[in-house]
Amino acid sequence: MSVSSIGEIAWVLGIVAWYFIRRPYERRANRVRVVSHRRSTSEKLGLAAALLGLAIIPAFYVATGIPEGADHPARLWAVVLGAVIFCLAMWVFRRTHKELGRNWSITLEIRDKHELIRRGPYALVRHPMYTSFLLMGVGQAFLLPNWVAGLAGLAGFAVLFLLRVDKEERMMMEMFGSEYRDYMADTKRIIPYIY
Ligand code: SAH
Repeated sequence: MSVSSIGEIAWVLGIVAWYFIRRPYERRANRVRVVSHRRSTSEKLGLAAALLGLAIIPAFYVATGIPEGADHPARLWAVVLGAVIFCLAMWVFRRTHKELGRNWSITLEIRDKHELIRRGPYALVRHPMYTSFLLMGVGQAFLLPNWVAGLAGLAGFAVLFLLRVDKEERMMMEMFGSEYRDYMADTKRIIPYIY
C-alpha cells in the first residue's frame, strides 16, 4: 500500500471517530431547551466553511484524487505525525464534549439552566473545542499529500474561528457577567499560556 493511501485511510478513520464522538451530544442537545441564540448569517457562513474545509473538500479528494495538480510527494514521517496530531485532536474533542455535556451546541446558544464550565480542558483555555478543530486542521495537512485538500481544514477552521469567537465571548459575557470576565482573565483562548 502506498504512503498516500495510508494517510488517506487514517484521515477517514479520524473523521469517523469525530462523527461518533459528537453524535450522542447532538441527540441529547435536541432535548434541552434553548433560551437565547445568535444564529446570524456569519454564523452559518462559519459553520459552512468549517464543514467544507474539514470534511467535504478532503472527502472529495480522498474519493476522486481531485485536484491532482496540487499533489505533493507523500512522506511516511508526515503521515505518522499527522495521525498522532489527529488522535490528539479527537482526544481533546471528546473531553470538551464530556465537560460541556448538556450545555453543548453546534452553534451559539444559551440553554436552559446553562452552566459556565471551567473544568478539565476548560481550565486551560476558553475554547478547547476550537483547539481540537485547529489540531484536526494541522493533522489533515500532514495526512493528505495535496496542497488544496490538506490545507482546506486550516482555512475552514480560521473562517469559523474569526467569525465566531468575539460573538461567542460577548454572548457568554452577557449571560455570565463578571463570572465570565474573571474566567477570561484566568485563561487564554485556544493555545494554553500563549493565545
Ligand atoms: N467555544 C467552546 C464551545 C463551543 S460549542 C469551545 O471551543 O470549547 C458552542 C456552545 O458552547 C455555545 O453555544 C456556548 O453557549 C457554549 N459554551 C462555550 N463556552 C462554554 C463554557 N465555558 N461553559 C459552558 N458553555 C459554554
